[in-house]
Amino acid sequence: MKLKIVTLFPAIVQLYFEMSTMARAVKRGIIEYTLVNIRDYTCDKHKTCDDNPYGGGVGMVILPEPLGCALDSIDALHKHVVYVTPSGIPFTQDKALELSCEKEIVFICGRYEGVDQRIIDRYVDDEVSIGDYVLSSGELASLVIIDTVYRLIDGVISTESLDEESFSDGLLEYPQYTRPEEYRGMNIPDVLLSGHHKHIQQWRLTQRIAKTLAVRPDLLERAQKNDSFAKKANELSWN
Ligand code: SAM
Repeated sequence: MKLKIVTLFPAIVQLYFEMSTMARAVKRGIIEYTLVNIRDYTCDKHKTCDDNPYGGGVGMVILPEPLGCALDSIDALHKHVVYVTPSGIPFTQDKALELSCEKEIVFICGRYEGVDQRIIDRYVDDEVSIGDYVLSSGELASLVIIDTVYRLIDGVISTESLDEESFSDGLLEYPQYTRPEEYRGMNIPDVLLSGHHKHIQQWRLTQRIAKTLAVRPDLLERAQKNDSFAKKANELSWN
């Protein structure tokens, strides 16, 4: 997958691509990335990227001219363009799955009060929000989406790791434990030492349902309508 990130602050994004699993995906050619600095496309000696909003009001807006030129430099009109914004559709695991099928994605990172609407009208395919809160700029939001999407691409991590993750079938994940068996007087649940595969699976599903019911009852309601949840519950039937 090719990723192009259009930003005023490439340095914020750069380090992410040089670390850990993402760095390995880049090295193996699964991910190619390009950082496009909007400031490189300004036309005045001060490299101005923002101006006051028409109609008045507080804050500044990213100028359409340098941003449009930055987008033209990567032929964005012919690519899938995501603008990260609090006014976008909520980002979910399903949206991540959908984006993971794209061959190339351009991310526009906003700043100040955002970007000129004409840029959105001309170039943007998807306006996506990572949550109901306001960040100071779009770099972290773009990275949240990129980080969620690239690990769904074949070959990045094992498919078994993805199968029972939170949201895979609408439920949150079960609690995880590792060595030692006793930590500061706290033991791990006996069933995890039993070696009984079906009992472990039953315990994990119960934990997932309990956790989802406690913190995200809205998800549980949806999961009950989901075939993969019903199949799993049926296979693990306590009868
Ligand atoms: N004036 C905008 C509003 O009220 O919706 C907020 C602009 S915010 C200070 C600056 C930039 O941060 C946005 O253009 C966007 O790119 C990014 N941003 C902030 N919160 C975000 C969120 N929840 N999801 C995605 N991007 C966000």
